[in-house]
Amino acid sequence: MTQTVVAVIGGGVVGAAVLYTLAHRGVDTVLLEAEEALGYGASGTNSGILHTGFDSTPGELETVLILRAAALRDHVLAALSIPVLRCGAELLPHNDAERATVAELAENARRNGVTVDIRPDDGALVVPDESVTDPVAYTLALGNAAVRAGATIKTDCAVDGIDQDSAGLTLRLVDGGRLTCVVAVNCAGLQADTIARLVGDHSFEIYPRKGEFFVFELPRGATLDHILLPVPTKRTKGVLVFPTLDGRVVAGPTAVDLDDKDDWSVRPAAAREVLHNAVARFPALDGLDPVASYAGLRPAGRDVNYVIGPSAACPRLVNVAAIRSTGLTASLGIGAHVADLLADLGVQVGPERAPAQAPAPHRSDVPWWRRTAQHKRLL
Ligand SMILES: Cc1cc2nc3c(=O)[nH]c(=O)nc-3n(C[C@H](O)[C@H](O)[C@H](O)COP(=O)(O)OP(=O)(O)OC[C@H]3O[C@@H](n4cnc5c(N)ncnc54)[C@H](O)[C@@H]3O)c2cc1C
Repeated sequence: MTQTVVAVIGGGVVGAAVLYTLAHRGVDTVLLEAEEALGYGASGTNSGILHTGFDSTPGELETVLILRAAALRDHVLAALSIPVLRCGAELLPHNDAERATVAELAENARRNGVTVDIRPDDGALVVPDESVTDPVAYTLALGNAAVRAGATIKTDCAVDGIDQDSAGLTLRLVDGGRLTCVVAVNCAGLQADTIARLVGDHSFEIYPRKGEFFVFELPRGATLDHILLPVPTKRTKGVLVFPTLDGRVVAGPTAVDLDDKDDWSVRPAAAREVLHNAVARFPALDGLDPVASYAGLRPAGRDVNYVIGPSAACPRLVNVAAIRSTGLTASLGIGAHVADLLADLGVQVGPERAPAQAPAPHRSDVPWWRRTAQHKRLL
């Protein structure tokens, strides 16, 4: 039986950021990931955009953590040599209703302290600080930095039972192993509700909201040098068109509510749903066939978002669940928030240490937008 102070369950970007933060604050921490490597869940299948929070609701926990992450991120990106395309975003209104929404978004951005501008000639909302990263490189870099700072990562290590006693928790692993800890942090994404059920916590439910993407190679001479955003609705940020670090252009995602947490396929109907919106936003895509498609499953909470805090059924289990749409962006803020919560629970959390300088992450032959689909044998 192995022992630690904190166990993190799940190695997506949220679990990796929690591990990174705790390791750099001197907390003995072990991360347990069910898959053979980190970042095979939602964290490997998203848009890779580091949002500014210009359109997030002021005061909500999600917004607070997006803004907290923004204050922490630049020195982490620099120290860990994480690639980032600082390209900015534009949102072009097409009618009076959309122009009114743009004006509301500009006011919202001002309340969140995010720089935006309305371009006088066409009324576009310009958000200079939106950027694009490689979400897999980002997740792996946080995990690797945590290990260099003293943390442990165990892969192929799914948790399937939790026992409680007065000293702490014992996590039972599917391979028969055991890990005892003082506190566990539940970062299991789509399975966060399954983990919570292990201690009798039925307070939230997670379902998959699928997002499908299409990847393009532009013909010689055509370029896209910033993110093209639609006017958002309450349910989704809509279909974006954005450049990737590897020189492609991606259009997506859709937003389809499902029950099956294992269905990572791209529906035949998705092409029609995405492509006409994408061409309207970026006419250079007209007539081009996508070179690839992929789908991600957002870990959406049923009527809840950003469920972060000790479980009422077992205060030694801290849920970090329903991180649906902005987990890549907010991950470092979530890590800092979890460190505060653990200190409140009596865990000795030290002052923050700067990460050691790291070389750029190894560039895989498989681009991140293909990695999860290949792993799940969809390509
Ligand atoms: C289509 C789409 C577009 C998105 N676009 C963006 C974007 O542009 N910017 C942004 O900031 N966010 C975006 N997001 C949201 C972002 O991807 C998520 O918020 C984030 O990835 C959630 O991270 P996570 O670590 O909570 O979950 P996950 O990445 O799903 O990680 C959970 C991990 O837990 C592991 N696990 C599950 N059960 C167990 C168990 N029993 N034992 C051990 N391990 C277990 C899983 O294997 C998995 O690795 C998007 C998401 C999608 C799907």
